[in-house]
Amino acid sequence: MQTITILGATGSIGLSTLDVIKRHPEKFDLYAITGNTNVSGMVKLCQQYQPQIAVMADEQSAQTLQHELKSLGSNVNVLAGTDGLLQVCSDPKVTTVMAAIVGAAGLQPTLTAAKHSKRILLANKEALVMSGELFLSAVAENNAILLPVDSEHNAIFQAMPSSVQKGGALKEAGVEKILLTGSGGPFLTKSLTEFANITPEMAVAHPNWSMGAKISVDSATMMNKGLEFIEAKLLFNASFEQIDVVIHPQSIIHSMVSYSDGSVLAQMGQPDMRIPIAHTLSFPDRIASGVKPLDFTQLADFSFCAPDLSRFPNLDLALQASKLGQGATTVLNASNEIAVSHFLNREIPFNKIAALNEYCLEQLGTVSPTTLDDILNLDQQAREVATGFIAKL
Ligand code: NAD
Ligand code: MG
Repeated sequence: MQTITILGATGSIGLSTLDVIKRHPEKFDLYAITGNTNVSGMVKLCQQYQPQIAVMADEQSAQTLQHELKSLGSNVNVLAGTDGLLQVCSDPKVTTVMAAIVGAAGLQPTLTAAKHSKRILLANKEALVMSGELFLSAVAENNAILLPVDSEHNAIFQAMPSSVQKGGALKEAGVEKILLTGSGGPFLTKSLTEFANITPEMAVAHPNWSMGAKISVDSATMMNKGLEFIEAKLLFNASFEQIDVVIHPQSIIHSMVSYSDGSVLAQMGQPDMRIPIAHTLSFPDRIASGVKPLDFTQLADFSFCAPDLSRFPNLDLALQASKLGQGATTVLNASNEIAVSHFLNREIPFNKIAALNEYCLEQLGTVSPTTLDDILNLDQQAREVATGFIAKL
């Protein structure tokens, strides 16, 4: 029996995780869920899934939630703030933490789970991009288990030999290349002259995947693929040259591994995050996820091409940052979070997201953080530089 905390339970990944674990009550016990300030969402989830603990971001939303739950006769215990988040990631009862908070806000709780030797199911790619080796060292030093939920990294993990799954080197295992696939997002073929007029509604309408707003915008700018390149490089200890990005608009293949003998192994499935979630929950076993298998007689096209870096400068910036190192990836992640939130609030146009990221990388991309404090300071500095840039637009 695994006892589970879900960070970001009210989000897209959080809800899919709840859907998978409710199918297997004999395997998974829900200990805690967290939901930032979304009181109404958390009331529903507490009623439906009966966790022991619910965590809200601040005292006020925690009090409101506790009050509403009491009036409904529920005895879920409500905690607040960072202390609450860290408690549900470190409690000795917890075996497994689903890290599905979006953005840098997920770093501290996920790092705490690593320091307490938990099994971490990692959806929150920004936390890894932001902290890199520091996070991986915390996992290794504390014998935590890190399993990738991001569909591409989960696919790569599944297509790797067990030596690499256990942390071994790619070359010794005969791996030549990681082929990181991406759909190219909703604007793969849109005329570049129309990019300035892209609205938040257009950007969050992904052709294949249903996801939270931030990652949907990242998919539209292809920053998502850039963050995933950095994520793959870290998770599989790969060199820059060992990873190729391949566009595959149908999102049926979720990524591939190419071997020295010419074999290429792909993981395929419907574009439904319950597949990688179920895989990480039960690895090395397999459990039902609720997703139907592919019907190959119903698949029309199956196409591939190289990414166009001039059309998607954010992908290019992320590739450059991954060469520069930890400081650059911390800065890029922070500036991109600021850019996307301003774009979603209609304060900057779509095509300024890359301009802002480029400016922040130029200003701060060569700083070399080593400690957690260095990383948090650099993240903060990049947010200030990004906000200053926007004020001048
Ligand atoms: P979402 O916006 O749907 O959900 C985000 C969750 O995080 C919500 O529960 C929200 O309450 C919580 N949250 C937001 N800000 C917070 C803060 N400051 N403090 C505490 N909690 C906060 O996002 P999502 O699509 O579920 O994505 C979650 C993570 O998973 C992201 O890092 C994303 O890149 C990654 N991911 C998502 C998908 C997908 O299909 N949705 C696929 C791969 C990876
Ligand atoms: Mg992905």
